[in-house]
Amino acid sequence: MIRASCLCQGIALEIRGEIRDLLYCHCSMCRKSHGSAFRARGRVRTADLHWVRGEAQVRYYESSPGEHRGFCSVCGSNILTRFDARPKEVGLALGILDDDPGARPMCHVFVGSKAPWHEITDSLPRFDEFPQGWAKSPDPG
Ligand SMILES: [Zn+2]
Ligand SMILES: [Zn+2]
Repeated sequence: MIRASCLCQGIALEIRGEIRDLLYCHCSMCRKSHGSAFRARGRVRTADLHWVRGEAQVRYYESSPGEHRGFCSVCGSNILTRFDARPKEVGLALGILDDDPGARPMCHVFVGSKAPWHEITDSLPRFDEFPQGWAKSPDPG
């Protein structure tokens, strides 16, 4: 079990399963949404997501058609992204994790949209969009 919570602690959830496909997204929507150089996110099965408290405190913003970014309506923490086309999975913001997910980010995506003031200094693969194989389940959140 992996625990997660928002800044104000009003929202808490547990992931009873694995977090997969961890990556860093440098697209402009993720940068604005997080107020940061990039978004660190992973893929979680909706069935593995269990709310401990605060589900009603999550507000959603539809940043692209069918893509709903959920955040804490009290403290603003990014929580998860839901996809109308793929209800069986969510994109989880890794910054809210309280436990080590075990897996590590495997690449950077949308580096063509990278903030000019941010320099990527690790050796992970970099992609201008999503790497091959992601095309079948495009998952920008
Ligand atoms: Zn909060
Ligand atoms: Zn993004």
